[in-house]
Amino acid sequence: MDLKSDHVRSFLNAYLRDRIPPLLFIGPEGVGKEHAAVDFARLICCNRRPKCELAGTLCESCQKAVRLEHHAIHFVYPTPSMGGGEKPGDDETEIGKILDVKRLDFFDTHRFAKKVSIRIARARAIIQRANIKPFGSGRNVFLVCRADLMREEAQNAILKLVEEPPGHTVLICLTENLDSILPTIRSRCQRLRFSPLRSSLVEGLLVDYYSTPVTAARVAAPMSQGSIRRAREIVAEQDDVGRKHAYEIVAGLVDAPQSWVIKNALMVSRYGSRDSVARFLHELASAYRDIMTGEESLFINQDQARMLAAQTGNWDPRRVPAVLDRIIETHDEILRRNLNMEAALVDLFLDIKHLRC
Ligand SMILES: [Zn+2]
Repeated sequence: MDLKSDHVRSFLNAYLRDRIPPLLFIGPEGVGKEHAAVDFARLICCNRRPKCELAGTLCESCQKAVRLEHHAIHFVYPTPSMGGGEKPGDDETEIGKILDVKRLDFFDTHRFAKKVSIRIARARAIIQRANIKPFGSGRNVFLVCRADLMREEAQNAILKLVEEPPGHTVLICLTENLDSILPTIRSRCQRLRFSPLRSSLVEGLLVDYYSTPVTAARVAAPMSQGSIRRAREIVAEQDDVGRKHAYEIVAGLVDAPQSWVIKNALMVSRYGSRDSVARFLHELASAYRDIMTGEESLFINQDQARMLAAQTGNWDPRRVPAVLDRIIETHDEILRRNLNMEAALVDLFLDIKHLRC
């Protein structure tokens, strides 16, 4: 999936044929800077003419780049401090851990417990490697992610590389915060600003890359402020809140007074969107399906097995299918037409309560 905006694409394409100056990608977290940098690096290293399209069949070089395994694309990330005596290469294990996480989920990050930075030893390693022409590939590409976390002495160390990069070296620094980049480096880089991603792009990515249900993606994308990271957090939070609430209701509904039932129905109706209410009902149905099976080892919601097993004792299994029908009916109606959600949910919850009797 190509996340680049037209502005970013035309800026980068213009450089593909020429000598590429040091580049500085600036923009908030989660808006696709790193994704664009990796894709640009892939295009730089691609040997095909014309270059491989991301959506088409990829050459061997491009496949390696996409897998984050290309020998000429070098990733630099901040890693925890090793204290005194830091040597070139001693952060490679940590950088490897970060890449392992990214190979499974590109927008995820390995989080270290300690404070991280890019140290001078890494800057020296970049310079050393930059002066060697890569085997079988035209150019070495260095992606310095979170360049704002590069220590000042490390920034000073790569200054020479920024001033006079060897012809076969491409340096791309990525930052959320321009102020932390030394003015001497800033002024010598071509800057490219990244804007928040379009909501439709975030939605597409949630559905295609993360297999998020379309309904959930449609709710999260507009609230994400164009950040994939934020969109994923919103999806997780919504799933969690709706799911927890569904189990609270299953556990409480049978014995709770009518006022509790109505209060909870109103709470659900205020979830903010039809889609989130529909997802809540989906969870509720899933819980009653487990109650219907009556067999704890067959429960789908194993994390709630104890509560659900206790509920099976409260229910005549012949009555649970009617509960499921009512939930599914309400779910479909909420998605299909503009009905009064408060009334529909109060009716549903009271019906479930009465079906038990
Ligand atoms: Zn290619």
